[in-house]
Amino acid sequence: MTTKEEWIQKDLKYVWHPDTQMKQYEDSDFKPVLIERGEGIYLYDIDGNKYIDGVSSWWVNTLGHSNEKLNKVLTQQAEKIEHVLLADFTHIPAIELAERLIKLSGEPFSKVFYSDDGSTAVEVALKMAYQYWYQKGKPEKKYFVSMTESYHGDTLGSVSVGGIDIYKKIFNPLVFETLKVSAPYCYRCPQNKEQCKCSIDCIAEVESLFKHRHNEIAAMIVEPLVQGAAGMRMYPPQYLTKVRELCDRYDILLIDDEVAMAFGRTGKYFAFEYANIKPDIFCVAKGITAGYIPLAATITTDKIYNAFYDDFSTLKTFYHGHSFTGNPIACAVAVENLKIMEQENIIENLKPKITKLKQCLEKFRDLAHVGDIRQTGMIGALELVKNKETKEPYQFEDRIGHNVFKEALKNGALLRPIGNVIYFMPPYIIKNEEIEKLTKIAYNAIKIVTEKN
Ligand SMILES: *Cc1c(COP(=O)(O)O)cnc(C)c1O
Repeated sequence: MTTKEEWIQKDLKYVWHPDTQMKQYEDSDFKPVLIERGEGIYLYDIDGNKYIDGVSSWWVNTLGHSNEKLNKVLTQQAEKIEHVLLADFTHIPAIELAERLIKLSGEPFSKVFYSDDGSTAVEVALKMAYQYWYQKGKPEKKYFVSMTESYHGDTLGSVSVGGIDIYKKIFNPLVFETLKVSAPYCYRCPQNKEQCKCSIDCIAEVESLFKHRHNEIAAMIVEPLVQGAAGMRMYPPQYLTKVRELCDRYDILLIDDEVAMAFGRTGKYFAFEYANIKPDIFCVAKGITAGYIPLAATITTDKIYNAFYDDFSTLKTFYHGHSFTGNPIACAVAVENLKIMEQENIIENLKPKITKLKQCLEKFRDLAHVGDIRQTGMIGALELVKNKETKEPYQFEDRIGHNVFKEALKNGALLRPIGNVIYFMPPYIIKNEEIEKLTKIAYNAIKIVTEKN
């Protein structure tokens, strides 16, 4: 029998891990954790150790691991039809899912375009927006506006609208030019305003840019309420409301990248509901299959759709399609996920858990190096700083976040950080006492690691 050590050796030999400096893996005492199975909020490694999945396995798992109902639907669908192309052919799971998505998102949404993951859903949105203006006779509207420190995926188009250096800098010669506005990062406000006491003055930058260049701007793309990969940076919904107003005033499309936020993460089905707005195009992926299978959708309105709808000879077709577009197994699991969410009142039942998370986060105020505590729905984040007064950040080399992660892992919690931001993004089925346990492990880990430094 192959031992655990041998599997790890083979892993290091054959697998190139994402976002990972492989040399560090090989050199350090920290080796990849070999997970064998999952159940509910827990992951079990090959030695039987269990870990609370505090980050929902990169923000995708919502109903827990190895969910009985989802498992059943998955196998049943595989036995019927595992995959079929979606051009000239169709199948019930794709139709049912599209109908559900349109009903959930409400007017004026009318059409669902499938793809495979968050990045491709964003690519689709960008191409749709550009081709829309092209077919409206305005090809000069070709620029996209996005926020500093934004993240929209790892493919070149989505990297173009991204703003995080580590993902982008090297590829700058390859990506297309975009226009940037300062992100509304309240803890380190670009306007030096006191948190929660502003009147969204930072919107002026968007307004000025739109005013001067609206003739060249196709769309603005935003991460609604939370800039996830930037370190769970949160901003008030009023900002989004104002962006929508400006987009209307200057005839610019609004693309809402809900990839990380949709399906209850913020406490509502879609984050745009908090701003009382509707984007022109929005993207969903993570969470759509409750974390089971890659699947994504770009959802839009008749206004956009009709610009593509014409005789074949006019060449207005949207030529975009992935091999696995609308995969039946993925769609069937997604339909079941949405059924469970409805039948089991998942979103309503999040309310007391969100309150619990809030209470637990408050306790971190007495830690000397927790600079900012933020929360939106089922996301809690702690920004660790060297100095709370001056907000002086820890340096990358300090690896504070990573050390907290290792300490928490020893105590049974998976809390993979983003730089020096420790965050909680557990599956929705987590219980109140488990939220307490998870945050307590984090508390102790932060205390131990920051006191050492
Ligand atoms: C994760 C993420 C993406 C990319 O999704 P993938 O499935 O990883 O390609 C895009 N946008 C946002 C906001 C994300 O959080």
